[in-house]
Amino acid sequence: MTQGKPIPDTEMSTAPDSDAGLVPEVFQQAVEHAPMAISITDLKANILYANRAFSSTTGYSSAQVIGQNESMLSNGTTPRLVYQALWSRLAQKKPWSGVLVNRRRDSSLYLAELTVAPVLDEHGQTIYYLGMHRDTSDLHELEQRVSNQRLMIEAVFNSSPAAMVVLDCQRRVVMSNPSFCQLAGELTADGSAECLVTLLHDNLAAPIEALVSHGATFSGKEISFDLGGRSPRWLACHGMAIHIEDERADVFFTPGEERYLLLTLNDISELRQKQQDSQLHALKALMAEEELLDGMRETFNGAIHRLQGPVNLINAATRMLERRLGDKAENDPVLAAMREASAAGMEALENLGGSIPVRLAEAKLPVNINQLIREVITLRTDCLLAQGIVIDWQPALRLPWVMGAESRLRNMIKHLIDNAIEAMSTSQISLRELFISTRVENRQVVRMEISDSGPGVPGELALKVFQPFFSTKPPHKAARGMGLAMVQEIVAEHAGTVHIDTGYHPGCRMVVELPFSAAG
Ligand code: FAD
Repeated sequence: MTQGKPIPDTEMSTAPDSDAGLVPEVFQQAVEHAPMAISITDLKANILYANRAFSSTTGYSSAQVIGQNESMLSNGTTPRLVYQALWSRLAQKKPWSGVLVNRRRDSSLYLAELTVAPVLDEHGQTIYYLGMHRDTSDLHELEQRVSNQRLMIEAVFNSSPAAMVVLDCQRRVVMSNPSFCQLAGELTADGSAECLVTLLHDNLAAPIEALVSHGATFSGKEISFDLGGRSPRWLACHGMAIHIEDERADVFFTPGEERYLLLTLNDISELRQKQQDSQLHALKALMAEEELLDGMRETFNGAIHRLQGPVNLINAATRMLERRLGDKAENDPVLAAMREASAAGMEALENLGGSIPVRLAEAKLPVNINQLIREVITLRTDCLLAQGIVIDWQPALRLPWVMGAESRLRNMIKHLIDNAIEAMSTSQISLRELFISTRVENRQVVRMEISDSGPGVPGELALKVFQPFFSTKPPHKAARGMGLAMVQEIVAEHAGTVHIDTGYHPGCRMVVELPFSAAG
């Protein structure tokens, strides 16, 4: 609503040029019944005529206003400057439009959207003034209410600690609040709201598409972003549709609606971090137990492996002696002793095999490799610090789920990281660096690389190190040589591959590739 807004310079003449032969009575009737308050005044604004709408708007009957000045409607709150502008335009024989505060007969006030115009005679002289006004109080109130509501909504939207973004159906950003922009700056490469929307869509494609297509609300969908050196971020995402009536005049009789999407993100990182910390404590105990059991399994397998050789020799020697003795075999005391030794050896092997702690079958569930790596790094932090090892952890921002046995995979990662720590701590290198990264390779596998700055593995041993009981460590070290064999076994259980990148120098780079589920 504008005050004093000029209207086109259409000066009023005394009579219409093309009245199609209508008698003046027709025009008088038209003015009398017009829905707008119309008055005609002399040059001092004394009212000569007022129509019905004038009476209904002001509360004064026609008889009560004839002869009165238009100033009778003035409430005294309209600034002088407005009247001066009105009269200045009339003095120039030009119309004026603006808004005044008028007082009705019952003293109530209303906003009058007024147009005044001079009526000119055939010589171009002003002979009357024409006033037309309508009560726009309701419209003004409505406009103010809309504006105030908008201000309030904007204040809530802008000061909300929750990140909020409104999108249109093409997922274009219509508006976003400062928390959303801040989050975009923290989570995306270019820091733009659009980039964060793409990232959200990558993680929540199904619910967002359902929201776009049929307005299906969703709530509390959790997503997490791994940020390498910094703590990971967990967000709870809610989505709802906002239906808005089409405002255009061309669809007045065929109203349609537009759908917008409101996405709200609550940062629940602190809560999740606390939960993770307590889970890590439990995990620490579990892994220590598993480590012990693995050690026992390795020891038993090592003992079986060592005993198997002599038992095989005794068996072979027994069979040779049997063949040589022929019919006399049954009474030969040496053969009897050898048979006894063989049976005792077999029994010992059987007993050892039966004593190997059984590994409980673990169900395969969707696993986030980034999370497992993070857990292992957290568990090994003390050890890394003690050895002065600098860790560079570069996780893929988004990693698909791998269907796997969680604790088996965690064990595998722990073993590779422990190997790297041990390799660096036993060699005389000044810079101890552990570099771990994940990424999606060929849209099929999750690739994990664990690189250390230790002495490395000679190329000719790159395959051999995965064989059971093979170790590059000196014999006096308590090396059982079963670690990488176990790593290979676990990776194979998950239909993946593990190898040493022989082109990586200096140091050793272990590469594990695990296929991920399409649903991830
Ligand atoms: P006033 O003493 O009447 O005038 C205030 C200022 O207006 C003066 O300082 C002066 O500069 C200027 N002025 C007044 N009369 C003239 C004049 N004859 N020639 C040149 N300048 C002049 N006012 C409303 O409040 N509500 C209305 O709905 C309304 N409708 C009007 C319709 C028409 C057709 C016309 C011509 C005027 C209308 N007015 C209306 C204006 C009204 O005439 C008064 O000017 C205004 O109400 C202020 O009144 P006032 O008693 O406060 O001051």
